[in-house]
Amino acid sequence: MKITAALSGRGGDAPELVELEQEAPRAGEMRIRLVATGICHTDLHEHPGRHSPQPIVLGHEGAGVVEELGEGVSGFAVGDHVILSGNSCGQCPSCLAGRPTYCDLAMPLCFCGKRLDGSTALCQHADEGDHPVHSHFFGQSSFATHAIVPQRTAVKMDKDLPLEKLGPLGCGVVTGAGGVIEALKVGFGDSIAVFGTGGVGLSAVMAAKLVGAKHIVAVDLSDERLELARELGATHTFRGDQEGLADAIRKVTGRGMQFTFNTTNAPPVHTMALDVLAMNGTAGFVAAPLPDANGPWAPQMFAMLAGGRQLRGILGGDANPRTFLPQLADYWRQGRLPFDRLLSFYPFKEIDRAWADAKSGAAIKPVLLMENSDDA
Ligand SMILES: [Zn+2]
Ligand SMILES: [Zn+2]
Repeated sequence: MKITAALSGRGGDAPELVELEQEAPRAGEMRIRLVATGICHTDLHEHPGRHSPQPIVLGHEGAGVVEELGEGVSGFAVGDHVILSGNSCGQCPSCLAGRPTYCDLAMPLCFCGKRLDGSTALCQHADEGDHPVHSHFFGQSSFATHAIVPQRTAVKMDKDLPLEKLGPLGCGVVTGAGGVIEALKVGFGDSIAVFGTGGVGLSAVMAAKLVGAKHIVAVDLSDERLELARELGATHTFRGDQEGLADAIRKVTGRGMQFTFNTTNAPPVHTMALDVLAMNGTAGFVAAPLPDANGPWAPQMFAMLAGGRQLRGILGGDANPRTFLPQLADYWRQGRLPFDRLLSFYPFKEIDRAWADAKSGAAIKPVLLMENSDDA
């Protein structure tokens, strides 16, 4: 079947819209007609490929309608509304424990651009013949009108929810909200400092408010983002470049923060997020620091972790998408998790503009709307 997809690996600033041939879903897979898909920083980093082979169709915050079932698919019907999450094997100890974001096969299943048997679902016709195109990015490759996805990546959602808004629940929102609720288990009366107020950080702020945290600190370099953080629940905001920032954050509670949640990959922020912890506090992070000559060096880190402090890497908000994503949608319905305030919509054909706005930060969470999705 012919589809339109945004292809990476052709040298442009943004993925380029092309026509591709997509095969039918294989056993255990479904064809999804995409209604919308968010653009996440992981997509920006993989164009051109950092971990992934090229050419590839990226995209991993897809939302759409089940159009065709492969052999053996159960629990889904044609016409179901779904959002797509990361791929996982379903059989390793992490998957069996309901923690699929820590699947033993997460890297090959999400980043290798093919099924484990080496096949891809896409190819490009050219005058010189057919050329395979990498697919199955996070089990999705959702920068396209249609995606072939393993049924494990799909999460069924109620049909009265606005499908075009739901895609970012599958990565950006769950990374922030799950990080706070599921991984760090922030609770009533607790204190947390969130570093970076992009889509992940602002989702963390909303989640901290939702669970009743008392002190919610947001740190960023953008005054506009900090203003939004306040509207969404931050009790204190600080510019990341202010003098004496660590002291100012510690003073919010008088003893430092019980939790920090770092959404950036800036080495000084990783140091700061440890430095402002109270005794016995926990620092969660979602991205490793970029290599940096100024550390933090191991002895400095051990000194910061003394006092019962913990440092915790968090993937996908620790969440089981099947149960957690519908819960987040319910909180949205109740007006208690207004993640749609982070979204900016673009027609799929304007992916160049959406890509530029994602890179510059002009849009917090750009969402591409696919043109053939008139009954969404
Ligand atoms: Zn993502
Ligand atoms: Zn697994």
